[in-house]
Amino acid sequence: MTEFDVIARYFTRQPQQAAGLVDVGVGDDCALITPTPGMQLAVSSDMLVVGRHFFHDVSPYALGHKALAVNLSDLAACGAKPVAFTLALALPSIDEAWLQQFSSGLFALADAHGCALIGGDTTQGPLNICITVFGEVPRDQALLRSGAQVGDDIYVSGTLGDARLALEALQGKIELPPEILAQARLRLEQPSPRVALGTALRGIASSAIDISDGLVGDLAHILKSSGVGAQVNTEITINLVAACARIDWSKGQFDTLKQLKTVFSGGDDYELAFTAPPSARQAVLAAATSSQTPVTRIGVIQAAPGLRLIDGSGKPVTAQFTSFDHFAA
Ligand code: ADP
Ligand code: MG
Repeated sequence: MTEFDVIARYFTRQPQQAAGLVDVGVGDDCALITPTPGMQLAVSSDMLVVGRHFFHDVSPYALGHKALAVNLSDLAACGAKPVAFTLALALPSIDEAWLQQFSSGLFALADAHGCALIGGDTTQGPLNICITVFGEVPRDQALLRSGAQVGDDIYVSGTLGDARLALEALQGKIELPPEILAQARLRLEQPSPRVALGTALRGIASSAIDISDGLVGDLAHILKSSGVGAQVNTEITINLVAACARIDWSKGQFDTLKQLKTVFSGGDDYELAFTAPPSARQAVLAAATSSQTPVTRIGVIQAAPGLRLIDGSGKPVTAQFTSFDHFAA
C-alpha cells in the first residue's frame, strides 16, 4: 500500500460528496469551505504523540475517537459548532487492521457531530496525530477566556478526575476495582466533548475554557485573561470525581487530599469550566438541561487576583495544587 492508497481507503468517504459548508474535501491541494454569512470561523489544533499522550498499545478505535474529541472540546469551549477537520498523520508502518479501527473511531465521533474530514497529510514516522478543527460561531458570540467579571458564578460540567484515576491505575500506581476502572478508562480514552453545552451557553456564559490540564491550571487561564481572582469551594469540588463515590475508602489510598488532587490537578477531563453572572442561573440550568450535560456551581469570581480554596465552613484550604505541564520535570 502507498500513502495514496491509505488516504483513499481509510480517509476518503464514499461517495465523496461536498456537503454543508464544504465545497471541496479530500483530494485536491486545498479544501474549500464557504462560511455562513454572519458567522466567524473558530479554528483549533491539537496533537497527540505516542508515549506522551497515549500508550502505544491503546485501542486504535479509542485513539481515533480521542484525537478528534480533544479538538472538538476546544470548539465547545468557544461555543462553536463543528464544521470540518483536517488530519495530519505520521504512521510507523501501514497496518491495515489498525487503520480500519482508527478511522472507524474517528468517523463515528465525526458523524455524531456533523464534522467532515476535508484533508490532511500522511507520512511515515513515529505515531503522531495532529487534527485541526474548523467550527462556526455567530459573530461576537464566541465564549472567550477573558470575559469573567467580579461576582460571576463559576461552574464546571460533568465530572472531573476520573481520567486521572484511570491513568494512575493503568500505570500501576493505584488499584481500582475492575468495573470502576472500566468506567474511568472510558473517560480517559473516549472523552465526550461538551459541544452541545458550549453552543447552549452562547450569550449566557461570560467566559469559558475546556479542562485538559486540570481544573486549577485551566481556571487560572480564565482568571489571568480576565484580570480577576476566584474562590472555589472544595466541599463541592471533592464530589466531582464519579469513581470516588464508589471506591472502598477502607483501603486507605483515597484520602481527602488525594481526592482533591485528582479533581484539581487531574487533566484529560475535557469538561468545560465557565463563568456567568448570578442573574443567569436559570439560563445556565436551562442550557445544562437542553444539552443533557450536568453542571455544578463551584465558586465565585473575586477582584483579588489568584485562586482561593475554602472548605464547607468557609475556612481557607492551604493545600496547593498544580496543573499538568508537558515541559515540567
Ligand atoms: P499535497 O502533496 O498537495 O500535500 P497530499 O498528496 O499530501 O497532497 O494529499 C493528497 C490529498 O489527500 C489532499 O487533498 C490531502 O488533503 C488529502 N490527505 C492527505 N492525508 C490525509 C489524511 N490523513 N486524511 C485526510 N485527507 C488526507
Ligand atoms: Mg502532502
